[in-house]
Amino acid sequence: MTDRYGVLGHPIAHSKSPLIHSLFAAQTGQNITYGQLQLPINGFVSGLKQLIAEGWQGANVSLPFKTEAFGVANVLTARAQAAQAVNTLTFMNGLIYGDNTDGAGLIADLTGSLLYPLQKKRVLIIGAGGAARGVIQPLIDAGVAQLIITNRTYEKSAALAKFFQVDALALHECVNSFDLVINATSASVSGLLPDIPVSVFGPYTLAYDMFYAKEPTAFMRLAAANGARTADGLGMLVAQAAEAFFIWRGIYPATAPVLSVLRQKL
Ligand code: NDP
Repeated sequence: MTDRYGVLGHPIAHSKSPLIHSLFAAQTGQNITYGQLQLPINGFVSGLKQLIAEGWQGANVSLPFKTEAFGVANVLTARAQAAQAVNTLTFMNGLIYGDNTDGAGLIADLTGSLLYPLQKKRVLIIGAGGAARGVIQPLIDAGVAQLIITNRTYEKSAALAKFFQVDALALHECVNSFDLVINATSASVSGLLPDIPVSVFGPYTLAYDMFYAKEPTAFMRLAAANGARTADGLGMLVAQAAEAFFIWRGIYPATAPVLSVLRQKL
């Protein structure tokens, strides 16, 4: 019997998850199907119940449904609770299990693919939306020495910093350089830059943009021009999917070959 999974969002046509999971399944010999489904903006919960009734075993959740998925889950992992958002659902024994694999995906990409140990690092996160929220606790757990959150709307970064007991600074106050600067804003989606002083970058800085595109983003270009090493979020995308695949199938697929296929297709 073939187990059924898929990704839910609105819109969803752009999703790379079906390709990633079909490559994982082929690589590990798992008998699954993985589709994509656009649910109506106001129809997430009813759509989900129908999928469960049809026999789906799990689903990834994309924008804008991650908060609703958090609300509908009967059982939440600690990392989903910290993120207050769910991107991976498992349907088992009549219950809905919710998890969030974004933070683990970032950590796996940094430490596993980019060979960047996080212990004792000074980290700046730019952005205070859902993506930032999902990675803060995993970065703290990975042993960073300092974590500062900054955001265009300062109040949002201050609220996040208070929740996770770290510090917030206004963008213009970020004058010192950091070991790791993470762009968790959606500015790159529109080819824009967060208004950050270039002094945050130094020759030992890794500048990581969670967004990914065929060419380096404006944030990556600015960081490189100021001496930093750069990376985009494609590795995080593949690694968060690998975490979800592991939750469902109990096998952690190799991410490097899948990342290389996706990179070629950008
Ligand atoms: P949200 O909409 O929740 O948050 C957007 C954030 O970006 C806010 O902090 C917002 O600031 C800030 N922002 C938007 N435009 C600008 C701008 N022009 N200048 C400065 N700040 C700006 O988005 P998400 O947190 O869900 O996603 C953020 C990014 O992370 C996206 O690019 C997304 O593609 C990427 N992502 C990548 C993943 C991966 O696996 N690689 C996984 C998840 C997300 P304000 O509060 O002031 O509005």
